[in-house]
Amino acid sequence: MGSGALVLNATYEPLCVVSVRRAAILVLSAKAVCVADGDGILHSARHDLPVPSVVRLTRYVRVPYRSHVGLSRRAIFARDGWRCAYCRGPAETIDHVFPRSRGGRHAWENVVAACAKCNHAKGDRTPAELGWRLHALPAAPKGMAWRVLGHRAPDPRWADWLDLPEAA
Ligand SMILES: [Zn+2]
Repeated sequence: MGSGALVLNATYEPLCVVSVRRAAILVLSAKAVCVADGDGILHSARHDLPVPSVVRLTRYVRVPYRSHVGLSRRAIFARDGWRCAYCRGPAETIDHVFPRSRGGRHAWENVVAACAKCNHAKGDRTPAELGWRLHALPAAPKGMAWRVLGHRAPDPRWADWLDLPEAA
C-alpha cells in the first residue's frame, strides 16, 4: 500500500499507476494536479509536497483502447469482489465452473472466485450437477479501471475513481 499513485487523465479516467516519486514530479512540473493525498510528506531540495495518492493530468492524453484484460488470480478476485461465487463468503481459491478435468477452459467465462469449502465440496462436478447456482454469470471485466489494475492491489483511496467491487 502507498507504493504507487494513480494517474487520471484530464477527463478523470484512470490511466495507470506510477511511483509516488514520479507522480510528485508530474505535480511539481505542473503536468498534473494532486487530487488525493497519501500518507506523509515528500521532501526534496526545494519543496515539501504531500505524498500524492491520485493525480490528474492537466492535459488530455489519448490512449489506445485495450480490450483484453489479462486473466490473473488477483484480477479474478477483484472482478468477483473477493467473494465466493457460490456462497458469497470470503473467497480464497479460484474455481473452474466447468471443471478443467472435464475440458473446462481457463477463461474469464469459466473461472470464479470461491471459498475453499465450496471449491472442495464441488470437486469435479458442475454447479448444475450439484443444484448450485452462480451468483452471477462470469464474464471478462470491462471498463477503464482494469487497464490500471493489472496485478496490483488497488489503494482504497482510489476507489472513487476506479468503480471497483468492494473488498470483503
Ligand atoms: Zn463458498
